[in-house]
Amino acid sequence: MATVSEYFGSMVFDDRVMKANLSASVYASLKKTIDEGAKLDPSVANAVADAMKDWAVAHGATHYTHWFQPLTGITAEKHDSFISPSPDGGVIMEFSGKELIKGEPDASSFPSGGLRATFEARGYTAWDPTSYAFIKGKTLCIPTAFCSYAGHALDKKTPLLRSMEALNKQALRILRLFGNDKAKCVRSSVGPEQEYFLVTKEMYDARPDLRFTGRTLFGAKPPKGQEMDDHYFGVIKPRVAAYMEELNHELWKLGILAKTEHNEVAPAQHELAPIYTTTNIATDHNQLTMEIMQKVAQKHGLVCLLHEKPFAGVNGSGKHNNWSIATDQGQNLLSPGETPYENAQFLLFLCAVIKAVDDYQDLLRIAVATAGNDHRLGANEAPPAVVSIFLGDELNAVLEAIETDTPYKGAEKTQMKLGVDVLPKFNRDTTDRNRTSPFAFTGNKFEFRMLGSSNSIACANIMLNSAVAESLKIYADRLEQADDFKTTLNAMIRKTIKDHKHIIFNGNGYDDSWIKEATEQRGLLNYRTTPDCMPHLLDKKNVDMLTAHKVYSEEELRSRCEIMLENYCKTVVIEANTMVDMARTQIVPAVESYVYDLTKTATAKKALDASISCSYETALVKKLSVLVDRIAAKTEELDDALLSLHDAENVTAESEMIRDRILCLMSELRLPCDEAETITAKKYWPFPTYGDLLFGV
Ligand code: ADP
Ligand code: MG
Repeated sequence: MATVSEYFGSMVFDDRVMKANLSASVYASLKKTIDEGAKLDPSVANAVADAMKDWAVAHGATHYTHWFQPLTGITAEKHDSFISPSPDGGVIMEFSGKELIKGEPDASSFPSGGLRATFEARGYTAWDPTSYAFIKGKTLCIPTAFCSYAGHALDKKTPLLRSMEALNKQALRILRLFGNDKAKCVRSSVGPEQEYFLVTKEMYDARPDLRFTGRTLFGAKPPKGQEMDDHYFGVIKPRVAAYMEELNHELWKLGILAKTEHNEVAPAQHELAPIYTTTNIATDHNQLTMEIMQKVAQKHGLVCLLHEKPFAGVNGSGKHNNWSIATDQGQNLLSPGETPYENAQFLLFLCAVIKAVDDYQDLLRIAVATAGNDHRLGANEAPPAVVSIFLGDELNAVLEAIETDTPYKGAEKTQMKLGVDVLPKFNRDTTDRNRTSPFAFTGNKFEFRMLGSSNSIACANIMLNSAVAESLKIYADRLEQADDFKTTLNAMIRKTIKDHKHIIFNGNGYDDSWIKEATEQRGLLNYRTTPDCMPHLLDKKNVDMLTAHKVYSEEELRSRCEIMLENYCKTVVIEANTMVDMARTQIVPAVESYVYDLTKTATAKKALDASISCSYETALVKKLSVLVDRIAAKTEELDDALLSLHDAENVTAESEMIRDRILCLMSELRLPCDEAETITAKKYWPFPTYGDLLFGV
């Protein structure tokens, strides 16, 4: 059997393959495009396409596709075969530079939020040479951006690449001011930790809610949940281990650096983390990872649930976005350095992030807003919907010392004169203990923990990159004009700490008192739901910033807002319809047939001997009948409320009706159903219970 290092990346047209299969001049030219974003020569494109096709065909591929990430949040592909007729009646395999660089999928059914009139159905896809092509099944997949003919981005990759460019530009300006003229580019990197649940295919198939919505809409608490804390980091069951083994194998073939795997807090919950890489590649890889997780699960008779909250009462699933910025020379700009000069630079980048997160709290919240994630944020298991930053006590003390111009009282007393003194060494461990913060500094990177497990990481990183680019721009504008660099730098850092320290919180983010303090004393934003936050995408300050850095045009932002709200509405409406259906056609009939059998039992007992007690049956029949009436009434109420959504004037109004009414009615319908489950004999219950699902693998 081949070893991992032998097959790692075997399905990727990576640097090794390029070097081996391209002429020296073509390779050099392509490399320049990949590393420095230089424009690609058409003749080079032809040579690359030809080599790619030969390599792909040799690895069993028959088709190619422009692989892209439309605003649905998943990936899309349309396959074309390489075949081209030859005069002798046979075929030859062909693939041109033109086909590599540009594709024209009929994309009229992808959401565009009004950006592309339906008559103008054709958007186009454009090759992203910075993310390697790969083979999936029998298809060569070419990572691409997806745009309308008017040039509007219809996908998540385009704005992500633009945000990386904005960050690159501003960070380089800062580095130049610190005398660094070696760095050619600055890139953000991400390592996303992905949580998921596994349930058996058999049980999944028996639950319409899981099949239609990805989460359970009914289900009483099982006798055992996660209270024993015995699953986290526990021994991995053989069936799950076999799944993870095959998953790793598939991911490694695609050059995805799957590194860590373990059980998570909830029963049936697991996590996979890759080694971090450049943000756009990490994004492509995370999309692929989610897809392959689901595909491999099927082969093991399992289903991988990526929903943020598949089960009420046990932890949901998130995705931790570990983010840092580094130069092409390998200098991590969020790593405290060895010399006073490096430290001043580190502190400036740190301040840029603090300012960015504070100024654009709303954009970070918006970036993770979905109907699914609304169930998690603030539910005492995930960070709250309030954005704050954790720095750890030591770094916090350093910032306080700078702000107040007093000696830092760390291990050794140090006057914190920027650019003069060396930062005290802080212990990495003390920066990594807080697990409740939405945005935590973990020694040399920030961990943004609000993402939902099914989110594309593109949105979070677009906002993060752009907001930090904006802070850096403000700093660079000022420093480039400064008469005295050091004095201006010191003043700027001090001012940032003063102005933005209210976003720094090192305590327990799950504590209710924090939400009170955050909103009432500190004035931080608390957008609890998607309809609460999404319209703020179009607030002037946000539009100004994102358009100034050319990350989005105003039209693109309008379309995103519309699509995200539409998506929220559709998601909840499907859930509500599924509940109505399950209550009417499964739950009520099940309870009724149990009631009928109980009644028959009681009647039979009485017929046998009138003195036999039937009080158990009588009480239960009464109780269940009350519940059935309540279920029926709530079902009708929910169904009516769904109809009234048609009166909504626009998608914003509809999303508010859903937030204020539909979601409440859904909880009210669930209550009597779950109660009925606990007192109905198991053989009558129409679908697997939480106990079956959570402990079934
Ligand atoms: P944990 O959060 O469990 O303590 P680590 O901090 O080691 O684990 O890593 C979590 C994730 O962060 C991994 O995907 C890892 O590759 C990534 N990571 C580590 N260093 C960096 C960095 N400098 N920039 C971005 N991501 C990083
Ligand atoms: Mg982590």
